[in-house]
Amino acid sequence: MEAHQMIAKGCTFSVLDRDAHISQLKDQHWDLIVIGGGVTGCGIALDAAARGLKTVLLEKEDFASGTSSKSTKLIHGGLRYLKQLDIGLVRETGTERAIVHRLAPHLVIPEKMLLPLTDGGTYGKLGTSFGLWVYDLLAGVKPEDQRIMLNKQEAHQKEPLLNPDTLRGGGYYAEYRTDDARLTLELAKAASAYGALAMNYMEVDDFLTGKDGHIQGIQATDKLSGETLSLSAHQVVSAGGPWVDGIRKKAAPLGTKHLQLTKGIHLVFPHHVLPVRQSLYFDVPDGRMVFAIPRGKVTYVGTTDTFYSGNLDRVLVTRNDADYLVSAVNSVFPSVQVGMSDIVSSWAGLRPLIHQDGKSPSELSRKDEVFTSPNGLISIAGGKLTGYRKMAKKVVDRVIKTITKKSGISFSPCKTHTIKLTPEPFSSAKEVEAYTEELRKKLAGCGLHSDHADYLVGNYGRQSAAIVADLQLSVSASPEIALACSEVRFGVKKEAVARAEDFFVRRTGRLFFDIDGIEEVRRPVLDEMQTLLSWSADRRRAEEGLLDQALHDATHFAAQKTVLNPTPK
Ligand code: FAD
Repeated sequence: MEAHQMIAKGCTFSVLDRDAHISQLKDQHWDLIVIGGGVTGCGIALDAAARGLKTVLLEKEDFASGTSSKSTKLIHGGLRYLKQLDIGLVRETGTERAIVHRLAPHLVIPEKMLLPLTDGGTYGKLGTSFGLWVYDLLAGVKPEDQRIMLNKQEAHQKEPLLNPDTLRGGGYYAEYRTDDARLTLELAKAASAYGALAMNYMEVDDFLTGKDGHIQGIQATDKLSGETLSLSAHQVVSAGGPWVDGIRKKAAPLGTKHLQLTKGIHLVFPHHVLPVRQSLYFDVPDGRMVFAIPRGKVTYVGTTDTFYSGNLDRVLVTRNDADYLVSAVNSVFPSVQVGMSDIVSSWAGLRPLIHQDGKSPSELSRKDEVFTSPNGLISIAGGKLTGYRKMAKKVVDRVIKTITKKSGISFSPCKTHTIKLTPEPFSSAKEVEAYTEELRKKLAGCGLHSDHADYLVGNYGRQSAAIVADLQLSVSASPEIALACSEVRFGVKKEAVARAEDFFVRRTGRLFFDIDGIEEVRRPVLDEMQTLLSWSADRRRAEEGLLDQALHDATHFAAQKTVLNPTPK
């Protein structure tokens, strides 16, 4: 059964039903409690609920507020793993990206990538041609989408900003782009449509153990009300991303394996300042590879890879992180010469990787790993956005084995490869395009631009219809304000938007991709939220403060130094 057919039976996903959800949380003995609402935890909750486990997912902040809104936003086969000869990982991520595209064709979109070949660059023509051929082969790419090698003129035509003096050609190959936070959210919504209870702003503080010392539940705090609650379950899983070791330590001492966090940042430039025509994956003078990706009104560039041991709850872009990427951009596009003042937004995220002695950040494996503590906590870390489904399957298989051994109850096999990720899903990219075209015509009648149709469909798929139907156009407010207000009503009622930041950062991506547009819609959106959620004046002020901090962090750079590209010890 598809997720959308389950909605009548499943849990709602509205912050307006929070009190009912909290009563439901306390009343039940759960099969599974999942800690962490990033892509990994939401993937696990969907898999488990779809197999019939009574599942609850608890996220201490908002869904995708950790690493899962700070990635490069690619669903990719991991070309860099090919260089590290990690054939298994390339094959797995290559196969997975095709599956995730099928599950959400409006959200996981084919995107051709250009890898320029230059004088003095890391890559030669023969090696690149062979490497990309193997990459396509491992990922099972259809013949019509397989890589082509371009000569100098062809590569320059694809991307006129590349330096004609050093350009020698290029490899042109298939990848997919996505919005990591929206993907995570749609997984959480699909999980709740299958009956999982997924709640944001619910922090797991501690574990409850039985007489035998085995974990039997958790203690959590509702961060919106301050209430603490105790929940019992057959099994607890931690998908806490960078917080995994901290959570593991609350259950039992860490074993020999532990996390090694590395930080990666992205910078956002207005598209007219960095007018790349096409997504690029280019090498920079220190031998690392960097992406430049056009998206609507902006181009974003990333990433870096540096060891991190600072505050997990507020990861900042430092001035020298930003300097590094600005130099990278200027080395590959010398005619552009961007400066720090051209940066309009940015984000920084942490890779929860598994520590390996003597390896530099870029050499650390991106493989996932499952740890089971002596008192039964299962934790998962490492991996990629792209591989979330396989990671979830691995964990849920293990959970089911444990529960079945204890109770004799059996559950159905994994079926997430067939579960579409939004209500009324699209069946193909063609259908997405046809729907977008229809919406463009409709929006033109409301004074909205055709770009709004692309934005709406890319964000919400066919759920755009509900947002457009609820547009309250008036002569006193711009169509942009009417659209944002309709979106926030949808967000509160259908997408667990509880704070202003949830809306501006993770439901709509405005903080990163349309930061200038926030000023115009901010006040009416907050008014709308205040009415819907009955905020007091104090709560409103607190929300304004949190939004201001998010805006500040995206547009300012911290002074402390990051050791860029350290050599392995
Ligand atoms: P997170 O998203 O961090 O989720 C963990 C969640 O647990 C957090 O939301 C946190 O708030 C919550 N939590 C922690 N403690 C508690 C608690 N006590 N109670 C309740 N909740 C708790 N992968 C790709 O496939 N493609 C890419 O292009 C890509 N680019 C990347 C670029 C960068 C710079 C980085 C850093 C990573 C990139 N990745 C990419 C990797 C990918 O983003 C991560 O592997 C993935 O997002 C990790 O998801 P997660 O759910 O494991 O962790």
